[in-house]
Parts: sequence; C-alpha cells; structure tokens
Amino acid sequence: MMRLKIVQAGEPVLRRQANVISPEELRSAEIQQLIAWMRETMRDAPGVGLAAPQVGVSIQLAVIEDRAELQGLIAPEKLAERGRRPVPFHVIVNPRMELDGPPAVFFEGCLSVAGFSAIVPRALRAHVECLNERGEPLSIHAEGWYARILQHEIDHLHGKLYLDHMHSRSFMTVENLNRHWSELPIAEVKERLGIGG
Ligand SMILES: [Zn+2]
Repeated sequence: MMRLKIVQAGEPVLRRQANVISPEELRSAEIQQLIAWMRETMRDAPGVGLAAPQVGVSIQLAVIEDRAELQGLIAPEKLAERGRRPVPFHVIVNPRMELDGPPAVFFEGCLSVAGFSAIVPRALRAHVECLNERGEPLSIHAEGWYARILQHEIDHLHGKLYLDHMHSRSFMTVENLNRHWSELPIAEVKERLGIGG
C-alpha cells in the first residue's frame, strides 16, 4: 500500500494551472502507477476525490469515488438533501465542464485544507467531457453531490480551491462544524453566521 503525501494550502502547485496530458502519456507505466497510488491515498484519507496537484503532480487528472461504505456513517435524510449517492471509482483526465441549475449550498471540505470546512455554493448539475484512465472519451452528466465533487476536483486542475468560492464567514474547523452547526438546517446556519443571499 502506497500513501502519497497530500500537500496543503500554500504549496505553489495548488495554485498552478495543471498541464493537459496526451493519451500516450496517460497510458505510460508512470501515470498508471500514479493513478493506483492516488486511489489508495484517497481511500486511506478518506476522501471522495483527489486531484493530481494535491499530490504534487501538475497534470489534469483526478480520481473520484464516493463509496456506499463512507455514506453509511451519514443520516439518510442528509444524504437525500445533498443528492448524495454512491459513485464508483473512476478517473477524469483533461476535463471540460459546463454547469447548470440553481446553486446548491452546503458545507464542503478539502484534503489540502485539512481540518477545516466552509459553506460553498455549487451548481446543482455538471456536464463533463474528459478522458478516462485508458485515454478513451468519457461524458458525465452529474447532479447533486457528484456534481459538487466534479466542480471541486476540476477546480484543483485550474489552481483553484474551495476557499475562492466559499462564504468566508462560514470558514471553521471541522471540530466546530460538528460541535455547533452540522445538525442545523443550512438556512439557519447562514442566518446565524450573518450570510445573506
Ligand atoms: Zn480539494
């Protein structure tokens, strides 16, 4: 088992535009090994997505997986509210994305901003055209939490973090999120934190 180091906010690679990779590079032993290690690292963290820049590699590649096993720890009504359903493991490469639908407003975290969380508005639906890990075209129509994951991971490939989109007044430690806010409806959280709109 190989766990890669997940770099934290402030590391220059997280703010760089990542490079597009060719199908030939993608099929190389190095990149295939990287994908396997990123998968293990994501599962170990645990997380639902990991972008190559987060492990210090500036290429447009991310792994995504939202396992039923992780969701078992979350109340069914919370899963339903977020439109969160299991997503099998897959790889996105050189993605292009179009967003659609009203913003969904929930707390979100990042393995590269460890220990913190904030309310981040994200489009409800995302349409992504990309390559899979074998360099074949892949078209994804996602909604709910999966659409949020895609937006978060694709942001990483363009040097962006959720910090760039968050309601800054909602930025908090995960400990305080669980202690004070996680059981409240999001509208009430926004009101108490003084977030308009
Ligand atoms: Zn992240």
